[in-house]
Amino acid sequence: MTAQTAPLPPGSIIGILGGGQLGRMTALAAAPLGYRCHIYCPEAGVPATQVCDRATIAAYDDAEALAAFAQAVDVVTYEFENVPAATAEVLARNVLLRPRPEVLAICQDRLKEKDFLRAIGIATAAYAPAADTRALGRAVAEIGRPAILKSVRMGYDGKGQVPLRSGTDLGEAWAEMAGSIPDASGIVERRVEFTMEISVVVARGVGGDLAAYVPVENRHESHILAQTIAPAPISAKLRGEAGAIARRIVEALDFVGVMGVEMFVTEDGHILVNELAPRPHNSGHWTLDACATSQFEQHVRAVVGLPLGDCERHSDATMKNLIGSDVEAWQELAGEPQAHLHLYGKGAPRPGRKMGHVTRLSPRGNPLRADDTDASEELD
Ligand code: AMP
Repeated sequence: MTAQTAPLPPGSIIGILGGGQLGRMTALAAAPLGYRCHIYCPEAGVPATQVCDRATIAAYDDAEALAAFAQAVDVVTYEFENVPAATAEVLARNVLLRPRPEVLAICQDRLKEKDFLRAIGIATAAYAPAADTRALGRAVAEIGRPAILKSVRMGYDGKGQVPLRSGTDLGEAWAEMAGSIPDASGIVERRVEFTMEISVVVARGVGGDLAAYVPVENRHESHILAQTIAPAPISAKLRGEAGAIARRIVEALDFVGVMGVEMFVTEDGHILVNELAPRPHNSGHWTLDACATSQFEQHVRAVVGLPLGDCERHSDATMKNLIGSDVEAWQELAGEPQAHLHLYGKGAPRPGRKMGHVTRLSPRGNPLRADDTDASEELD
């Protein structure tokens, strides 16, 4: 479909591929602006369909259902990057797809993503392709150990990732990485000795306007985001660099929507980009309660062609994911002053399942510290 720059009027319908919490929070943010959402996902009763009166429950490769969905909506976006390429192509032929399908092709393939970053001059961990076990040996010889073998596609929250230490057997590592992924192909990345993981949530509008939230610190447990601290306790110089990197990426991709850019801060004070998420990002959930415009509203604004909102924060924030049984504390959290509880309407808690999150606000410039980290670091 050809690009359209005039904003879609209120009452228009935003199609969202995916039924999880990101789709739910996007749909909730669309409502105050007068837009309606139509969810497309394979399962009924999921977080996003609970808050929308329109849903298509069908497989992502159901051509007939996709065609009817395209007819029923004015623009389509997605809440996860593993949308099958064929699905994106069918939709893009029939309806506006934002972000555009070429973005998906890059962001769902770790090798293409790193090649893209390298091509635009953005630093990443050293990496080499490993399409099969023989190539794995060559890649490890080139990159050295310690390294990480990652599946090129379909990996998230640490799935499809195997550390390559000095004694790791490469055949076993390959089998473990490829285990559940059909036709797995790999990438070997040098393990980065980072001092902090940070991310920038950045938005780009239809006309090319840009807006970025302050970089945040992300702490992971068992490869899953556990906590986000906004702003990240890093120097103003690094903050500026992180923001500039995120902006450069969305411009180079001709991106429309919100993207999470995950980065490492290295021991010698450099930034390396780890991963791109072409959608609202878990590390941006704090913006719901602490910013003039949340990342979800920003995504809606971008995909319907409205001007972007203000990314400024009125408070600092700590966001904690409620993973698995953490959610059992809901009553206590709901009663805690300054805590904003968000539950996703999922069924039974399972280990590793994101059930909700809680954001705690504090006055700007005086971030709540969730642990004993030195709070006197530079925070200007
Ligand atoms: P990813 O799926 O690439 O986002 O990786 C999940 C997590 O694994 C990251 O948030 C890091 O904590 C860790 N990780 C991934 N790649 C590397 C790397 N090259 N060096 C060190 N840690 C990494």
